[in-house]
Parts: sequence; structure tokens; C-alpha cells
Amino acid sequence: MSEAETKRVLRLGLTGGIGSGKSTVAKLWLAQDPGIALIDADHISRGLTAPGGAAMPEVARLFGVDMVAADGGLDREAMRRAVFAEPAVRGQLETLLHPLIGQAIKAEVEEKIRQGAQRLLFDIPLLVEGKARWLTQLDAVVVVDCQPETQIQRVMQRSGLDRQAVENILAAQASRSQRRACADVVIYNDPLSWAELTQQISDLAAHFRL
Ligand code: ATP
Repeated sequence: MSEAETKRVLRLGLTGGIGSGKSTVAKLWLAQDPGIALIDADHISRGLTAPGGAAMPEVARLFGVDMVAADGGLDREAMRRAVFAEPAVRGQLETLLHPLIGQAIKAEVEEKIRQGAQRLLFDIPLLVEGKARWLTQLDAVVVVDCQPETQIQRVMQRSGLDRQAVENILAAQASRSQRRACADVVIYNDPLSWAELTQQISDLAAHFRL
């Protein structure tokens, strides 16, 4: 696929803290705009260490077969223990995964364009934490924002984690102001009813279709 072909497509980044409503926004957006395709960075990243994932041979070589679960995927519990015992292991895993994630996303982008996508919505939870590497490739960044208390309530309800565990996750993520500083559009998904959120996404989808 030529560079000109991949460049013509509008690239939108979608990000927000845990429980802010990114997936909900993405789902509504896809329903409103048949010309947009979703690139889910988390899903792609998880697939690399799933059974048969492209990263698994290198994971076994670098960290040993103890990190490979019976199904052939990454033994996440063993990896958590290894990172706890030796924090540098996290960096080593990220160094291994990073180029593979980049390649897998590029391949998926080309596939979506081949299938006729005119716009791409990149759901990238850690877009802001990952810095400009991503931002430079995007035409616009949409941030889903809400009060931390709303995030805490939503995540506690969904996951069964306790308040402290959710607060720890929030503390490790970018702050609201850091995220908003990267935004071209902010969706303030706090006091919004479903109808209001749907209307906002419908307006936004129409704006980017123009
Ligand atoms: P994560 O980063 O953890 O995957 P997320 O940002 O993708 O989270 P969602 O999964 O979209 O967040 O939303 C979290 C929860 O909040 C879901 O249960 C969703 O149904 C609910 N939710 C999202 N927006 C609203 C809203 N405007 N009103 C009520 N509930 C909402």
C-alpha cells in the first residue's frame, strides 16, 4: 500500500483515564459513522502475548519457558511475580513488545484501509503517557474526561476492585490536566445521560465526516 493511500485517511486518537468511558464513546462512534474503523491498541497488544501471539517465541527466549503458560500464552501471574521481584523486567518486556505493537498496528491500519475505511479511530488508553510518538501521527485527539470520583465508582462497580486499588491505578495514570492539554476535543462524560452522550458523539462524528 502506498504512503499516499494510507495518508489520505483521517486519524483520530481517543483516550481517557480508566473508567472515563472510552470504550462507550468508541462504540457509539462506530454506530454513528459507517466509514470509521476502530484500532484498539490494548486489544492488539494483548494479542501479541496471547496463545500463538507474535511475541511469544521471543518472550520464551528472553525470560524462559516459565513465563509461558500451558496454553502457549504469557503466564501473566508469573510475569507479575517477576516484575515484583525485579522491576527492570517490566522495561525489558516493554522493549520487546513496543516494536511489535507498532508493526501490528501498522498492519491493522493497512487492512482497515484496504477494507475501505475512510477514518480511523485509535483507542489508545495510554496515549498521553506514551507521549508524542503517537500524537504526531494523529490528525486530532479526543479526550474523554470525567471526575476521578466517577471513575472510581464506575471501575469499582465493574471490576470488584476496592477503592484503594482503583485510586492506585488512577495515580499511576496521567492527570486530567495533562490529558486535556493534549486534546483537540474534550468529551466531559460526567453528568451526561446516555441520550446526551449519544448526541455529543453524533455531532462529533458528523464534524469529522465533513
Ligand atoms: P477502561 O479504560 O477501564 O477500559 P473505559 O474508559 O473504556 O474504561 P467504559 O468501559 O466505556 O470506560 O465505561 C466504564 C463504565 O462506565 C461502563 O460500565 C459504562 O457503561 C459506564 N459509563 C460510561 N459512560 C457513562 C455515562 N455517561 N453514564 C453512565 N455510565 C457510563
